[in-house]
Amino acid sequence: MAAASFARAERLNQLPPYLFAEIDRMRKEAQAKGADIIDLGVGDPDLPTYPHIVKRLQEAAADPSHHRYPSYAGMESFRQAVATWFQKRYGVTLDPNGEIISMLGSKEGIGHIPLAFVNPGDVVLVPDPGYPVYYSGTVLAGGHPVLIPLRRENRFLPDYSRIDPADLKKAKMLFLNYPNNPTAAVAPVEFLRESVEFARRNHLILCHDAAYNEMSYDGYKAPSLLQVEGGKEVGIEFHSFSKTFNMTGWRAAFAVGNREILSGLAAVKANLDSGLFEAVQEAGIAALLGPAEELEEVRRIYTGRRNVLVDGLQRAGFQVEKPQATFYLWVPLPQGVRSVEFCAHLLQEAAIVSTPGVGFGSYGEGFIRFTLTVSEERLQEAVERIRKLRI
Ligand SMILES: *Cc1c(COP(=O)(O)O)cnc(C)c1O
Repeated sequence: MAAASFARAERLNQLPPYLFAEIDRMRKEAQAKGADIIDLGVGDPDLPTYPHIVKRLQEAAADPSHHRYPSYAGMESFRQAVATWFQKRYGVTLDPNGEIISMLGSKEGIGHIPLAFVNPGDVVLVPDPGYPVYYSGTVLAGGHPVLIPLRRENRFLPDYSRIDPADLKKAKMLFLNYPNNPTAAVAPVEFLRESVEFARRNHLILCHDAAYNEMSYDGYKAPSLLQVEGGKEVGIEFHSFSKTFNMTGWRAAFAVGNREILSGLAAVKANLDSGLFEAVQEAGIAALLGPAEELEEVRRIYTGRRNVLVDGLQRAGFQVEKPQATFYLWVPLPQGVRSVEFCAHLLQEAAIVSTPGVGFGSYGEGFIRFTLTVSEERLQEAVERIRKLRI
């Protein structure tokens, strides 16, 4: 069979190689051998969606009025619920007609936004390390990603003064994500202010990915870009049900902010999808307007897990700090140790799955990421195994 007869489009060849392939292979090998694997690799909550949300979906799915094509922007009641929630949570008033749209998961919106505004050759500023979709969405739109390093000495915030002016001149868009995946860093509101100013000065569309805004600890509350003066003039913000409400499988999210930017995104989406299943929107309304205790309970569970793993790693000699948000730990490795090799070692010697930092970009080298998506007991077991390795 001539394998080359369906040559892939150039744009696919420009995407970075899948760096987790080797780890995946080793994980399967260990699994086949019957190893008792502790998986701290995937960014996917192990906890179930709250029962009242599931129940709302079940009822709404049985209602034939929800069986037809939904509206592109989302039901009016859904957008109204988002506005109510946003006002209560952030003190920001949003117009449900134009400043809020539904999405099929925030990955969908993030992946599509460059198609609306980026011409071939335009630069998009992408954090490194970062969630891979900022880069791939840019490449698929024919844009040119320019990586902006997130350095530990700068608390994993970009240093705008170090961006090459030639790149900046061609730049059209900037992606930010705080609380951050993979570094678990948070951004003070002053940094968001500086970013709005930077975007305004350089005429950039600022896309803030707020997937972890509600997943925080010790009373920390992550700010919204739209709380900052001028935020709505330069940017949009992506919010997701996935991590907040343990709903990764439901594919439900929304974008809020500048109406001109949102209408560009909506124009792309109108040509590629037909909106979010209304029954899922009903469940989303139940999530947003539902009791806050469940979210508190989930925060408490992650706090306990975070403490077990951070304390254990510190005792084993790792210089890891307690994150204020996200369900990740971003762990610096001893000087000169490569992240892929370290992950392979952890998997082979301790049956622990982790993610090599370099998979999120070259500035992720020298770190690994752990996810807090197993029970405290299993994390305790992971700590025991790591301690025995004597790293
Ligand atoms: C998980 C994640 C998302 C994707 O969320 P969905 O709404 O499920 O598509 C977006 N951004 C970051 C940084 C994430 O970690």
